[in-house]
Amino acid sequence: MAKLRNCSQCGKIFMSNGERLCPNCVQAQQDLELVVVDYVRDHPKCKIPEIMEATQAPEMLIRRLIEEGRFEQVGVNLSYPCKKCGKPIVAGAYCEECKEEMQQNLQSASSALNQVAEAEAAAARGHGMYSKDLKDSKVKM
Ligand SMILES: [Zn+2]
Ligand SMILES: [Zn+2]
Repeated sequence: MAKLRNCSQCGKIFMSNGERLCPNCVQAQQDLELVVVDYVRDHPKCKIPEIMEATQAPEMLIRRLIEEGRFEQVGVNLSYPCKKCGKPIVAGAYCEECKEEMQQNLQSASSALNQVAEAEAAAARGHGMYSKDLKDSKVKM
C-alpha cells in the first residue's frame, strides 16, 4: 500500500511503498553509488577517506557497497580499517581477531553478570530461608 511520507534524505513528501527515500533521492543515491564504484575501479588502491573526498559519498554508503561486494564485481578488493585495531578488513565492522576478542569479553562479562545474579539469588534465598526459619522455628518449638 503506497502512502505519503517524508523522504528521510530531503524531506520532500512522496508516495512510498515502504521506501525511505523519494524517487529523486533514490536516483541520486544510485548515481552516487555508480560514481563511487567507478572511482574505485579507476583507483584500486584507494582508501575510504579518499573515496569520500573524491565522490562526496558518505562512509555508510561506501561500507554498504563493500558489504554488498560491489567493488569485488569490478575486480577491486577494497579494505577498510577494523573499528577496533585498524587492521584492514573487507567485511563487517571488525577484524576476525577483534571479533573473537569481543566474543570472549562478552562471554566473561555475561558470566560475571551471572555470578552477580547468582549471588543475589543466593542472598535472596538465604534471606527467604532465614525468615522462613524464623517463622518455622516458632511453629516447631
Ligand atoms: Zn528525497
Ligand atoms: Zn581488529
